[in-house]
Amino acid sequence: MSSKTAIYLCTCATNISDNLDFEEILNFASKLEDVAYVKVHKLLCSEEGKNFLSSDISKEKPERIVIAACTPKEHEKTFRNVLQKIDFNPYLFQMVNIREQVAWVTSDKSKATEKAKSYIRAAVRRVSMHEPLEKKELDCNTDVLVIGAGPAGMEASLLLAKAGRKVYLVEKNSFIGGRVARFEDVFPKMECATCMIEPKMDEILHHENIELLTCSEVKEVLGFLGNFKVKIRKRARYVDKEKCIGCGACYEPCPMRVKNEHDYNLSERKAIYIPYTGSLPNVPIIDEEYCLRFGNKDSDTCKEALELGLITQEEYDRFAIHDCTICRDACPFDAINYDDKEELIERNVGGIIVATGFELFDPSIIKELGYGNIQEVYTSLEFERILSQTGPTNGKILMKNSKEPQSIAIIHCIGSRSKDYNNYCSSVCCLYALKFARLVEKHLPSAMVYDIYADWCIPGKDNQAFLDSVKSAKNIQFIHTSLPMNVEIKQNGDKIELYYNEISNNRRKISTDMVILCPAMIPAKDTPIISKMLGITLSNDGFFAEGHTKLAPVSTNIEGIFIAGCCQGPKDIQNSIAQGAAAAGEILSALVQGKKLELEATTAEIDKELCSGCMTCISLCPYKAIFVDTNKVAVVNEVLCKGCGTCVAACPSGAANSKHFTTEQICAEIEEVLK
Ligand code: SF4
Ligand code: SF4
Repeated sequence: MSSKTAIYLCTCATNISDNLDFEEILNFASKLEDVAYVKVHKLLCSEEGKNFLSSDISKEKPERIVIAACTPKEHEKTFRNVLQKIDFNPYLFQMVNIREQVAWVTSDKSKATEKAKSYIRAAVRRVSMHEPLEKKELDCNTDVLVIGAGPAGMEASLLLAKAGRKVYLVEKNSFIGGRVARFEDVFPKMECATCMIEPKMDEILHHENIELLTCSEVKEVLGFLGNFKVKIRKRARYVDKEKCIGCGACYEPCPMRVKNEHDYNLSERKAIYIPYTGSLPNVPIIDEEYCLRFGNKDSDTCKEALELGLITQEEYDRFAIHDCTICRDACPFDAINYDDKEELIERNVGGIIVATGFELFDPSIIKELGYGNIQEVYTSLEFERILSQTGPTNGKILMKNSKEPQSIAIIHCIGSRSKDYNNYCSSVCCLYALKFARLVEKHLPSAMVYDIYADWCIPGKDNQAFLDSVKSAKNIQFIHTSLPMNVEIKQNGDKIELYYNEISNNRRKISTDMVILCPAMIPAKDTPIISKMLGITLSNDGFFAEGHTKLAPVSTNIEGIFIAGCCQGPKDIQNSIAQGAAAAGEILSALVQGKKLELEATTAEIDKELCSGCMTCISLCPYKAIFVDTNKVAVVNEVLCKGCGTCVAACPSGAANSKHFTTEQICAEIEEVLK
């Protein structure tokens, strides 16, 4: 044991001393083996207390220090900073919690005093085994990776780029803008969505600090705040962005017609296509799955195309022999490049913002709603495309038989606020349902709208006035039910019949031409994959979990990784953009140019003699900090290790140890507590 351990006892004003016999503790602690002295102070965390500690330690020159006070969560860092400033190794210090764990929870004063004595004895033994650890410093990269180019991702990217940061904006689609870019108007002021978002999209495309990677997905992320290494898979577009001017000459003659998923299958596109008129960047992409060139005579694509009459027998034979080159031949700018290849791009960044958006709950799961079986039952996103000038009907509200509907039912809360599906409110459905009603009124003034709702969720300063104005429209009837999702929808001839329970529980029926369902916003499909890749946790509903619901809404459990927009939970455009801005602000304050990052000193280490090379630790380390060396034993990368101790607990050979939390140190501490 060390011969000079100093103990400082804090009374925490009277918070601790009221419930403990300090005289007895002082007596006991002074007599512990190798304790040089024990001193009492009334508030060690105060400025006066910190000054006392500095000058007393400098004068007395103890070798190790125990401070018995409040929880280490509150002031361990405070005291370590004091020690660091006077060049005392902060790891030769142990803190004992005699407030939350003793004085505040043990009402019997004599029992509390005994408990405090045993904790102090354990700390003295433990600190005698501590090693003086050194913190290392590392340069910090201030570039940023943003995943997802919807409203939140674009906002974050632009703010960072304007602040002089290099941004890598990765978007899995061939275009940017997310779903909003495909909307017609947005609530409550009925502004044109495209006019609103296009200037931002344009800035993204032309900002010198933004490298936009469309058709791309992040495949691997290693590292930590200030030093992430990222691998991005970029799919081949087969069209040279530098040469293409977006004239569209290539996709018109392409013989392959397929359903356009970007119009939710309500329109067709070619195998070479842009998803919708006005999408940016205005450069087509070749869909390998449907392009005849990438198929062959026996492929399902070619056979199906022949069977469906999409190509003639002659074309079938010609493509099989010569391969299709129609789009290349049609392009006046030699922009089509069939030799384009997938790339694996590597980038180093200091911070990451995840803004991967949402998906809609699939209403076909609820059979009674008829979605997928009854032709004129649509989801809200499908109806957004029907309303859009760039959509399948050029903004005209038409049924599949090209006639205008005379009546439309809009049903709220499909798969939301339900224990069976999603037990949360999607927060925007009421407002966009009102927007739909307003747009139907504008485009089809004589049509009747039935708005079937349960409760109104319309927070925000302009939204109540919007509800009031829509409520005053004469052709819009609001139907209050307890659970809109329980509506039963049936086809009856040309009409659709809706059976529902009024709030009074009376069964009613209405007959309409068209039905719009407002399904819950749910996490995007790749959310669990991204969560695993980045090590960021999910909340119970499957969205990315924020650091704290109120205090850290865009942080995650991993330092340097932030979330923004609907990947964190359902929200409107305004709130998505606010979160994008907040995430950019977090990165700007965390990653300052020229500032060094401090590395964790309490990392894990592996005893080469004991390691059997089983690799258990490698698969479990959440920071991917362990690798196997040439001798087939595990080695910890101290730069990546955060000292979480997962490997220590998991190693079947007992080869992994955590500095500052060694098995010997912990066992010695427990032994003293139990004496
Ligand atoms: S190669 Fe032929 S099938 Fe493929 S995209 Fe071009 S035109 Fe269409
Ligand atoms: S024809 Fe050529 S320039 Fe025109 S959109 Fe197609 S690839 Fe671009």
